[in-house]
Amino acid sequence: MMKVELGHTRSTSDLHRAKEWLPLWSYEHIRLNHRAFSLMCLFLEIMSNISPEESLHDSHSEFDDTMEGLFRVLSNAVVHLEERTKVKKCDPYSELTIFLGKLLIEQGVFPIRDNCTFCDCPLEKLAQIYLVTDHGGFSCGECTTQIEGAVTSSSREGRELWELLGSVANQRYQELNELKLENRDVVHTLLNYFYYQFQFQPHNFKSLKMVL
Ligand SMILES: [Zn+2]
Repeated sequence: MMKVELGHTRSTSDLHRAKEWLPLWSYEHIRLNHRAFSLMCLFLEIMSNISPEESLHDSHSEFDDTMEGLFRVLSNAVVHLEERTKVKKCDPYSELTIFLGKLLIEQGVFPIRDNCTFCDCPLEKLAQIYLVTDHGGFSCGECTTQIEGAVTSSSREGRELWELLGSVANQRYQELNELKLENRDVVHTLLNYFYYQFQFQPHNFKSLKMVL
């Protein structure tokens, strides 16, 4: 991570001259671990697809803080990944679940999980919970059997994702250690939810096949 001060350039130029730069932080262990490095590439690829194009010639851009949230998620994700890699406890499935959960919160599309997205009944004590991707939340078993054509997870995955996303939402990034995934397919279900919310396709992310 570097702090860069840009010099003035002509408004027609796409090249920007760095007047001063200062290294703030760098990872040491990620670069020695192929899977951790691939995972960091995936984080960057996802951020690159979500981030709006920055215009460095826009004199008002320094007052625009819309990118701060994305920066915070990415910065936390890389620091977390470095820490987990350092103690040799880096599980890509857990890291990706935390990252996607934090990103969905930041972007305001985190799945509704307190109550059923259809009938509003509390979900906490229910054994059968489903993630309904095209309705932006979880639902109870009764509603899920009645809704036709909805994109739903299995009951087992739904319940597990409900628990995992609860941990992600209720704890700060660096307080989360490793999520215990009983069924690793839940990461694919969460990825499908993410694709649906942002209208992506799996082929938009080339690093994915090196991670999962
Ligand atoms: Zn319901």
